Amino acid sequence: MIPIVDLKEQYQSIKEDIDSAIQRVLDRGWFVLGEEVERFEKEFAAFIGSTHAVGVNTGTDALFIALRALNIGPGDEVITTPLTATYTALAISMSGAKVTLADIDEQTYNIDPQKIKEEITPKTKAIIPVHLYGQPADMEPILALVKEYNLKVIEDAAQAHGALYKGQKVGSIGDIGCFSFYPSKNLGAYGDAGMITTNDAGTAAKVRMIRNGGQSDRYKHQLLGVNSRLDELQAAILGVKLRHLETWNEKRRKLAALYDEGLSGLEISLPKQKENCKHVYHLYVIQTSQRDKLKEFLSENGVGTQIHYPRPVHLQKAYEFLNLAPGWFPRAERAAEEVLSLPMYPELKEEQVKFVAATIRRFYE
Ligand SMILES: *Cc1c(COP(=O)(O)O)cnc(C)c1O
Repeated sequence: MIPIVDLKEQYQSIKEDIDSAIQRVLDRGWFVLGEEVERFEKEFAAFIGSTHAVGVNTGTDALFIALRALNIGPGDEVITTPLTATYTALAISMSGAKVTLADIDEQTYNIDPQKIKEEITPKTKAIIPVHLYGQPADMEPILALVKEYNLKVIEDAAQAHGALYKGQKVGSIGDIGCFSFYPSKNLGAYGDAGMITTNDAGTAAKVRMIRNGGQSDRYKHQLLGVNSRLDELQAAILGVKLRHLETWNEKRRKLAALYDEGLSGLEISLPKQKENCKHVYHLYVIQTSQRDKLKEFLSENGVGTQIHYPRPVHLQKAYEFLNLAPGWFPRAERAAEEVLSLPMYPELKEEQVKFVAATIRRFYE
């Protein structure tokens, strides 16, 4: 059986460093917001190329706190993509703002800047592009809209740690970058964790307060914050793993190239890396009108797959109240019916990729 993702092998490859990092935290006896968090925040900011990084509990919290820090809430509208982890939209809803959706570009599955423009109203305050599957969203036209309409841009970089857009790491391009360290992400904790990046000192200071109950100092609550603190164990683990991230991303890219080669010439659309971008293949996603049958065939032949995502945001029951019927975002809806994520993780073997590709070839023959 080839699973879509396997986290056990990676732990074995860095076991000594992870175990000693965990032991160090246990011996010190300090568990929430401490020197491990501070060090990891500095290292992650340096990696992303932003001046500030603030650790939080989850990627969802990162997005929600980013909106709060920018004073976005009830009465405001925030535009994002219908094809994402629904958590992106939930973070907007948590802030009290209205979720507005704009359809995707069919080549990259990322939000289409032209469609964003059509959704902008006087109430629009921010855009949240998602760098889906590890491919940077088209930031240049998005930044042009942001300037024209005086908006903010919050990057959802939960799937794209280390991805590059025109030489810049994603998460350092907009007003705020948001990361998730959910275990299966390109940089994953052994539990939940998230990070906010920004180049603005004022925003960073506000985010620091919000994540810690709105306190400026102990017992001085300056604003209505939340409890979304990063813990020392996760920060220590993430610090060890960050040192391997570039190598792991390169492995993903190499495996993606091998898939590209093995699947060429079939009636499948393969992931396309945009010019001047570095895709980090959080997921290797193909598209085919025979998706469900192919998924079943692969499963029968010992290959695990998943669908990211089977239901776009506007067709989720939780978002029924938006009154956006099927047909509103035809590109995202079609993708939801046709995309399939193949096994992808740095420890996946080249032979396994070749086996998956050969099995898909057999399906079409
Ligand atoms: C994982 C993910 C999130 C949510 O992150 P959590 O840490 O699970 O809260 C948000 N957006 C995208 C695109 C994601 O992939």
